[in-house]
Amino acid sequence: MTWGAEAKQRPEWMRVRAASPGSRFNELTSIVRENGLHTVCEEAGCPNIGECWGRGTATFQIMGETCTRACRYCAVKSGKAGEALDPLEPAKVAAAAERMGLRHVVVTSVDRDDLPDKGAEHWAQTIRALRRRSPELQVEVLVPDFLGAEETALITVLEAEPHVFNHNIETCRRIQPKVRIKGDYDRALHLLQRAKELWSELYPERGPLLTKSGIIVGMGETDDEVIETMRDLRAHAVDVVTVGQYLQPSERHLPLARWVPLESFRRFREAGDELGFGSVFAGPLVRSSYRAEEQRLAAEGGSRVVAY
Ligand code: SF4
Repeated sequence: MTWGAEAKQRPEWMRVRAASPGSRFNELTSIVRENGLHTVCEEAGCPNIGECWGRGTATFQIMGETCTRACRYCAVKSGKAGEALDPLEPAKVAAAAERMGLRHVVVTSVDRDDLPDKGAEHWAQTIRALRRRSPELQVEVLVPDFLGAEETALITVLEAEPHVFNHNIETCRRIQPKVRIKGDYDRALHLLQRAKELWSELYPERGPLLTKSGIIVGMGETDDEVIETMRDLRAHAVDVVTVGQYLQPSERHLPLARWVPLESFRRFREAGDELGFGSVFAGPLVRSSYRAEEQRLAAEGGSRVVAY
């Protein structure tokens, strides 16, 4: 899926892991196809698909294939409006997760700025369907920023009781306007902090909500700006952070600014440790949903940094 010229120049450390023979890759493909579902693994051309699907995990993408934003780095198709919502999608996602035998599921969505509630109710129905069908399942939601309906949407989603709340900040403050036309650095930070606050108001008897965010590097930021972004995330009580290399999806997308060296990823892990994140996954092929169960367990178990 990545643009050919860019892929040819890839350094050694960007080599992807293929699915191993006898893995669950084909079984997973059938489950996804039979249920008519979408995965961000395919839509975004994730380099880890061989490894993750081979292990039987995938990240579901709900509310269609068309995103109403057009972030310059993203491979997902964009348009003014998305497809009509499939009322059966929550049940289909729940059935697929059960068939896959998942203990931890990651669900994300396209941005649906065209819907009055920005898709919040569909999100809530999906979380509820997953929890009802597989009561032991841990549900991680990687949500959009619900632009214009933030507070109401957060309450709707949190009332459905996800286990991990993830919203990706994607990049540093300086280049945010350039790469995310409709994104906003401070709005992303606010959303993450507000989710935690609202959770405590909704469920004062429970522990805090586990929150998480991801950064893509290689889009024009400096290492210091990555660490500054991590500092801002911690200042907004984020527990888990992921940092991974940008891959330019096509010639039309934001040009790759640099291959971030392994030494920088080591620096990010050390910085994350010092900042007190519950888990830091930082490495060239790390994606927000990559080995998400391990990220959660590390944060919950207090093992702090799970370096990658
Ligand atoms: S890292 Fe996430 S998006 Fe990529 S293949 Fe794995 S589960 Fe899918």
